[in-house]
Amino acid sequence: MAGRIPQHFIDELIARTDIIEVIGARVQLKKAGREYKACCPFHDEKSPSFTVSADKQFYHCFGCGAHGTALGFVMEYDHLGFVEAVEELAARAGLEVVREGGSAAPSQPHDELYVALERAALFFRQSLSGEAKAREYLAKRGLTADIIQRFGIGFAPARWDALLDRYGTTDDERQVLLRAGLIIERQSDATRAQGPGFYDRFRDRVMFPIRDTRGRTIGFGGRVLDGSEPKYLNSPETELFHKGRELYGLFECRQATRSLQRLLVVEGYMDVVSLHQAGITYAVATLGTATTPDHLQRIFRLVGEVVFCFDGDRAGRAAAWRALENAVGEVKQGRQVRFLFLPEGHDPDTLVQQEGAEAFEARLSSALPLSDYMIRELSARSDPSSVDGRAKLVELARPLIRRIPSDVYCELLIAQLAEAVRMPAARLSELLRADESPSVQRSETSFAGRTARPVPLPIAGRGNLVRQAISLLVHHPAAAAGVGDIEALAAVDRPGVPLLIELLAQFREDPPSSTAAVLERWRDRPDHGPLSRLAAAECLVPDAEAAAAEVRSAIEKLVAEDAQWRLAALQDKARGTELTADEKLEIQSLIRTLAQTARRGPAK
Ligand SMILES: [Zn+2]
Repeated sequence: MAGRIPQHFIDELIARTDIIEVIGARVQLKKAGREYKACCPFHDEKSPSFTVSADKQFYHCFGCGAHGTALGFVMEYDHLGFVEAVEELAARAGLEVVREGGSAAPSQPHDELYVALERAALFFRQSLSGEAKAREYLAKRGLTADIIQRFGIGFAPARWDALLDRYGTTDDERQVLLRAGLIIERQSDATRAQGPGFYDRFRDRVMFPIRDTRGRTIGFGGRVLDGSEPKYLNSPETELFHKGRELYGLFECRQATRSLQRLLVVEGYMDVVSLHQAGITYAVATLGTATTPDHLQRIFRLVGEVVFCFDGDRAGRAAAWRALENAVGEVKQGRQVRFLFLPEGHDPDTLVQQEGAEAFEARLSSALPLSDYMIRELSARSDPSSVDGRAKLVELARPLIRRIPSDVYCELLIAQLAEAVRMPAARLSELLRADESPSVQRSETSFAGRTARPVPLPIAGRGNLVRQAISLLVHHPAAAAGVGDIEALAAVDRPGVPLLIELLAQFREDPPSSTAAVLERWRDRPDHGPLSRLAAAECLVPDAEAAAAEVRSAIEKLVAEDAQWRLAALQDKARGTELTADEKLEIQSLIRTLAQTARRGPAK
């Protein structure tokens, strides 16, 4: 089975890829000093603020803030998923993609799955033409022959072995069907003794093929014709199909519209199909899951605007709130998230058929912006007319506001919230940041990642030694080799120190080829965002040797500061009580540490 793509392969891919070539093939680059410049492909501009650094293997736009590695660029620019982008760059570099748990590329076994799913889709389509009750059902739901064909809708016969009989006659074939999620292995030995060990997963259901961005069938959703349960059945998670990432109808949207401007996210397959039939060809659905951050990232790689559409009932409201909680981590300038609630008892399918596309689109244009929805919901939960209620509202808002990655957006939201609670914005902003337990405050200034509101990077000044050291290592990973002893650093209790130690240890053991390689190693970790922002900031230190000296001095300073602080605390304590023997020993050792630092001269 195809596993994850191992980090060593990504390392090699980044080392063998030249970001100048990759971006240069898509955007006209001009050399400017050590870097390359262009007009940014991600925002409209007349003078170039998009720069690409060959040293760092990193791009950064001073205009819109877009930044990343060659891999990230291909994902953004070509609208590809991570794996697809890896495949694209690997093909360019002449490398074969390696997967964990198998040395060779899995192209062969994957091909088998695609073929099996395509065959199944064809089989279901053919079965539909022979099944009057299914055709009647679709006609009754108002679907035309054209839309049925556009979405490849089919029917799974009411038999336990329709697909098995056709395509699962050998052991090998059955294994492929099983991996594709099309058949199920019988569980108990008793039933196994009664006959073949497998049966069709989808029976007596209208079948909706779920396609990937290239139009290949990767799974199915099946709906019953009558009232039986479960009403909807999806393919299980397979090598190709991951519910939490896929959006039903996305391929069809991209087929219908060359440059999509917005996406409408609804809840069901029938909603998507009906909306498309009515001419709203930018509708997609999640597959029986809440909207995940993965979904949102995919959506925002394609469009700048998303409208979530929910039933006005309780379940719909709960789902909407979950979508909001996931969306706050993705909002920034140039991205619009809005929420549309339908009248109770209606879904997009029935509503668009009843009132037509124009009226439905009029509803869309009046959908609530994320900020309005958030404040409305929080106000409903807290009663802002009273002092207590206003305090509660601030409490409820705090965790959400903290997760918003954009400072500008955050300020705007706070201003709006301040109006709702009738409080000066500056005071509210203070309140939202205050009252935090010290541990929270600490982690906020550290690299706690997406969940915390990122603190502005120190552009000037010597503010945060840990962040400076980390920044230097991100820009000059080779510096790690020249940093010397880092044992004393382990005792320093400051946010970010564990990350600093990890970077130093890892880079010595296995040096990354560039800044881009560092970021790719951290791609799936919470610190990826902060590290990328450090990479995007300018580094004034020219080379690894100079960077190593700076990091060394930062570490000495950190150790000394920590020792001084600890010493002061112990001396303070000694004034009140007798110290333990251990504490007395610690004082001696701290004094030694400080004396050593002083002998070496004050750190720069
Ligand atoms: Zn830009």
